[in-house]
Amino acid sequence: MSIAQRYQKIRKEIPDEVTIVLAGKTRTREEIEEVIEAGATEIGENYVQEAERMHSSLGEKAGEITWHMIGSLQKNKINKALQIFDVIQTVGSLHQAADIGERAGRTGRIMPVYIEINIGSEFTKAGVEPEYEVIENLSREISGLENLRLEGLMTMGPRSGNPEDLRPCFRRTRDIFERIRDCNLPGVNMKTLSMGMSNSYRVAIEEGANMIRLGTIIFGERE
Ligand SMILES: *Cc1c(COP(=O)(O)O)cnc(C)c1O
Repeated sequence: MSIAQRYQKIRKEIPDEVTIVLAGKTRTREEIEEVIEAGATEIGENYVQEAERMHSSLGEKAGEITWHMIGSLQKNKINKALQIFDVIQTVGSLHQAADIGERAGRTGRIMPVYIEINIGSEFTKAGVEPEYEVIENLSREISGLENLRLEGLMTMGPRSGNPEDLRPCFRRTRDIFERIRDCNLPGVNMKTLSMGMSNSYRVAIEEGANMIRLGTIIFGERE
């Protein structure tokens, strides 16, 4: 199967309300163009520089895509990131949120962000511990930042051969997501639960994900 066929097959298999973000790391412009041609509208990038390169090589098409920052964002890349991305999924502290908010404020922009929850991932040390009180507190702080709009939670989850092992992590994240949503904080619009990757997206959707992030299963193994 081609990239386009794999994308369309998964698109058909999952509910319409689940958004697919294509993880673009290490992929070529041709590969990304193919998946866009097949209907993809959301691209996730881990590195600002790589995103910048992809963004400019796609030309006009880049404007039709919603760009998601899914890697950890360094402070000295925030300004650049604000020019490229439509949402930052990886906010992990108040300090970082304040830095992003301050820079967004300079351009008069309101930046959508998700809080990243670190539910035992070895891919990344980034993210907030999965304690409800900690996440509620951070959500309240972000709610008070004029130039950020909290719109969701994101989690990677531990790598595991068996996606069933991730079910409790996803369930816990969903529970936190719903509790924050039910706080109805001002300036917060909790609508997106971003969890599940190539090996785990089915379980993630069963546990309430409405956004999944796929790389390998669409594009093949990374080198
Ligand atoms: C690479 C990546 C994905 C996709 O991983 P696959 O296992 O290739 O589907 C999802 N989320 C993040 C944050 C990633 O870095």
